[in-house]
Amino acid sequence: MRPSVVWTATALLLFCHHAAAKQKIKLGVIFDTETDQLQSAMLAAMREQQRNPSLDFVLDPTVSVINTVNVYKISRLICDKVFSLGVHLMLGYVNPDAFDTLHSYANTFQMPFVAPWFPQKVRQMSTSLDYALSMRPEYHQAVLDIINHYRWDDVIYLYDSEDGLHRLQQMLQSVTPGNGTLRVRHAHRIFKVEDAISFLRQLELLNRWSVKRVVLDCSARLAKDVIVAHVKDVHLGRRNFHYLLSGLVMDEEWDNSTPEYGALNVTGLRLVDPRRPQVQAILQRWSGQAGMDRLLSAQTALMYDSVLVITEALRQLWPELLQLHQRRLKLPQPPGSPSAANVVEGRVFNCSQGFSDVTGYEHGGKIMKQLRKIEIEGLTGNISFSHEGKRKDYTLDVVEMSANSRPVKVGVWSDVYGFSSTPVQPKQVQQGIRTKNNTIIITTIEEPPFIMQLKGEDAINKTGNDLLVGYCKDLADLLAKEIGFTYEMRLVKDKRYGAVNTSVEGNWDGIIGELVRREADMAIAPLSISLRREQAVFFTKPFMTLGISIMIKKPIRKNPGFFSFLNPFSREIWLCVVFAYFGVSIVLFLVSRFSPYEWRLEETVLGTAVTNEFTIYNSLWFVLGSLLKQGSDISPRSISGRLVGACWWFFCLILVSSYTANLAAFLTVERLVTPINSVEELASQSDVEYGTMRAGATTDFFKNSKLGVYQRMWDFMSSNEHVFVQTYREGIERVRNSKGKYALLVESTTNEYVNGRQPCDTMKVGQNLDSKGYGVATPLDSPWRDAINIAVLRLIDYGELAKLENKWWSTNSECKEVEESKASEMLLSNVAGIFYILIAGLVLAMAVALTEFCCKSKTEAKRAKTTHMDAMKARARMTISGTADVDGSKEAAPVDSAASGEASVDSRQAYTPPEEFRDRFDDETGEFIGLRRLGR
Ligand code: GLU
Repeated sequence: MRPSVVWTATALLLFCHHAAAKQKIKLGVIFDTETDQLQSAMLAAMREQQRNPSLDFVLDPTVSVINTVNVYKISRLICDKVFSLGVHLMLGYVNPDAFDTLHSYANTFQMPFVAPWFPQKVRQMSTSLDYALSMRPEYHQAVLDIINHYRWDDVIYLYDSEDGLHRLQQMLQSVTPGNGTLRVRHAHRIFKVEDAISFLRQLELLNRWSVKRVVLDCSARLAKDVIVAHVKDVHLGRRNFHYLLSGLVMDEEWDNSTPEYGALNVTGLRLVDPRRPQVQAILQRWSGQAGMDRLLSAQTALMYDSVLVITEALRQLWPELLQLHQRRLKLPQPPGSPSAANVVEGRVFNCSQGFSDVTGYEHGGKIMKQLRKIEIEGLTGNISFSHEGKRKDYTLDVVEMSANSRPVKVGVWSDVYGFSSTPVQPKQVQQGIRTKNNTIIITTIEEPPFIMQLKGEDAINKTGNDLLVGYCKDLADLLAKEIGFTYEMRLVKDKRYGAVNTSVEGNWDGIIGELVRREADMAIAPLSISLRREQAVFFTKPFMTLGISIMIKKPIRKNPGFFSFLNPFSREIWLCVVFAYFGVSIVLFLVSRFSPYEWRLEETVLGTAVTNEFTIYNSLWFVLGSLLKQGSDISPRSISGRLVGACWWFFCLILVSSYTANLAAFLTVERLVTPINSVEELASQSDVEYGTMRAGATTDFFKNSKLGVYQRMWDFMSSNEHVFVQTYREGIERVRNSKGKYALLVESTTNEYVNGRQPCDTMKVGQNLDSKGYGVATPLDSPWRDAINIAVLRLIDYGELAKLENKWWSTNSECKEVEESKASEMLLSNVAGIFYILIAGLVLAMAVALTEFCCKSKTEAKRAKTTHMDAMKARARMTISGTADVDGSKEAAPVDSAASGEASVDSRQAYTPPEEFRDRFDDETGEFIGLRRLGR
């Protein structure tokens, strides 16, 4: 075991002219052996700081390099070579086992300790009371987000240290519902390249074709070696492997003279953005310096930033530190003290005697607090810390290894916003950009009327693009003319639009997959624009708008039934008419009874009778005759009776006219009765099954919808796999052959087109469920994207696309539809007014009848010299019995025998019947007997 090395950096810094003149702040630095790069970075950073004229001090580091994890030796080193020097804080990096000891010394003696990074397990435990500060941001969430971005179902986790295992544990703990998923198929520790390769080979032997996503948590050197070894290994596939390097290893130099790197899919994280001016300036200054790479590794940058943070914190605390120093200088100096006038010392600890009565460094807490308050721009971006001392507000670049072994930035991950893919900067479309043979490949899909393949006779003498016709073919021609390219149109191989499919290369199938894999340069098809697709390919502005709609089989038209004459009115109206009929009849009967003017003398063969024509039967008959527009041979004579009659006639006039007007429409139109009229109806029934096309935007819509009704529909569909169809053609056939028991959720464009085609047996019901557009798509980095976008907009503006739409939809219809009648039954509210008038009329009539009754009774009372009440009673009796006295005049005599049920004269003396009626009166009693005799 080699002894530990201690050296003071001041000597190394002496070359700096400023250093001598400035106060020195003591710093304890501890490094592991084999951290040469870090040590160089620290010294380089300190040299940079010394050149800073705005600083009144320089850092005076005493560097200890240890090569042991022996706790006793480390303790001795800390006590004897660090704490005894009167340092203000510590800096450095030691291996994880030694770290624990160093960490506990820092906390016990309240001595701040800054490290470029901590071992993973320490990071997990760090709290706001901790005296250690790590410069490395946490990135396990970034790894998780990338896994979710690629939609990896499971991963193989290879790690080379305990730290890697801790990181995996932390990732698994971070996975909460809604926060993505992480399924680790295998976790395996590797120590060298051969371990990784032999393990992967075993997996390959088990299943050669499965896609393997390997999360490689190891040093940059090991990761590079694994990739090179993988590419060279003939037993391992290349296209079915995707490596995610979960350390910050993409900052390292990935030598692009090693072509193997580009042969595999490799994604990784980068902390230092090499394009930032600060980084470039440092690289320029350091270029050619011993121990410095052409690129800044994450470790170097973190070390540099550690010095930056310490310097900045001390600069802010400088006035206090200076005061402390001056106070110290006034005290008598102990003999042999290392203090010098220009060295600002902290507290000297003599900890080798044990920890009893340890009181921490009185300024340690203040320095620590100041360190956490720092907000500066370092090489690793924005540097600021949370309350617990963890980095916050930082970003990491997500890079993929390109085919020529160059890392290309594909996205950014930030602790605030998570992962977002970088929009690829479009290159200017140069005139004359062409793919091979000056021809671009356009992928499309057979979907009438967008693209149809000519067959049979139509295809004779035709080749290539000419075999395809349709809206999209016309659009491709227009775009080619507009921009100036030639194209070859091909049908997508798997006949799918494009959905995420982890079992194919590039994770997308269908048209989108072909664009992602660069098998085509452009897609002109009824391809719906969606968020997920937009992340994988570029879409132009929509060239057509549409929505998801319901297609059902057209129901067979129903002829009007036997009772269709009832249709013009709703059931309530009919019921009200029946009630009105009986009501009016009864009121007419009553008012006629009450009204004296409805009574009349009638000459019969049997004599004169006082009669009232409006018996209950006659009233019913009169009212019915009026309702049916036939009239009757009786009609009311009293005002009240006529009022009732008039109201009823008016009622009948409006009612019958309305009925007649509506009846014509109902009897002449055959009505279509659809079993489903809206998506809500579709979702709430179980008689008609419904489904979507797999691998399409409609399926995605239902899968991702948060609306209750669509979620219910998705639950139904996903639990009944048979309802899905592979193509619209299959779906439409199913709608036609399922006798109305299957509805297809299809985009409105296709729905409308198919409904206009023979055999004209499908129809669209309800409103569209959403609104979206079809766009022309290109790969994200296509040079054509801007030009195509502009060309599509121009075609819209010039009305060219409207013309095309008209050509393929409106003028192409084979079903000449009879316009569906808009006739519908009238509702009670439509005719309520006439009922009100009728009721008002009836009430008025009854009031008038009552008035007439009272007036008449009064006159009679006066004439018969009785009380009004008696006269009223007598008249009431007559009203109830339905017979009356005969008094030879219209002003009848008071009645006193009405109780017998027959009318009688109140006094024979008062009345002498005319000669011809004499025999109608009883000689003895003088009682009128005409009618009774008739009965006898
Ligand atoms: N146009 C749809 C797409 O681009 C396909 C049809 C559908 O999903 O209903 O995915």
